[in-house]
Amino acid sequence: MEEQLIRSERLAATGKLAFDIAHEVNNPLGGILTYAHLMQEDLGATSELTPTVDKIIKLTNRCKIIVRGLLDFARQDTPEKEPMDLNRVLEEVVSLMEGHMILRKVELHRDLAPDLPMLWGQRAKVEQVFLNLIINAAEAMEGQGRLEMTTRHHPKTREVSITFTDTGPGMDEETARRVFEPFFTTKPRGRGTGLGLAISHGIVQQHGGRVELNTRPGMGSTFRIIFPVGDS
Ligand code: ADP
Ligand code: MG
Repeated sequence: MEEQLIRSERLAATGKLAFDIAHEVNNPLGGILTYAHLMQEDLGATSELTPTVDKIIKLTNRCKIIVRGLLDFARQDTPEKEPMDLNRVLEEVVSLMEGHMILRKVELHRDLAPDLPMLWGQRAKVEQVFLNLIINAAEAMEGQGRLEMTTRHHPKTREVSITFTDTGPGMDEETARRVFEPFFTTKPRGRGTGLGLAISHGIVQQHGGRVELNTRPGMGSTFRIIFPVGDS
């Protein structure tokens, strides 16, 4: 418990630092892009430097995407909250994803609680969390396996939970300990930003909830999100 507290404080501090850096880096990045585009125009299509400038633009755009992710992750303002039916939110994310390449050979199973109370929150953010967990599971299973999604109502603790259980390779202890850190990734360079779970963790916390991870090498992974049921 105490260890978890320290970890979440450290995560918050890391998030603040990341936000400050992203903020500072954003402007010069914009400048680099502008100058690179000017250079691209000056050179025209025939110069032998053109492919090099194109590369600069491509890589700078990638930096911008990372910076954008960080700024979204650490954003302080809280957009409007609205009533959410988590079963419906999950269904919508799944139907959005079902045609996706990476999910082609993933069996998706749902076990949705019929008595799920409405929650009060930022629907678009919660969609992002579900999306991240589904994509991560699919990537871990290398596009082949079974992903079980379950929603439950816990009236005694006044909570709602959503679990994502995959049949992927699971994680060793060291990896499991670090997955929520910003920029932690085991994916090849250029594939993963390592921000998905850090962002998701932040969103769940903003909703007063928590994320639990249960995993072992060779045993798949289960991410469990727990949201409190509010009074309104
Ligand atoms: P990214 O997907 O860009 O690597 P994430 O924050 O989404 O960043 O995930 C961080 C790391 O957590 C991944 O690189 C992977 O090592 C591990 N991970 C996340 N989800 C799973 C999963 N379902 N099974 C196994 N490993 C996972
Ligand atoms: Mg990810």
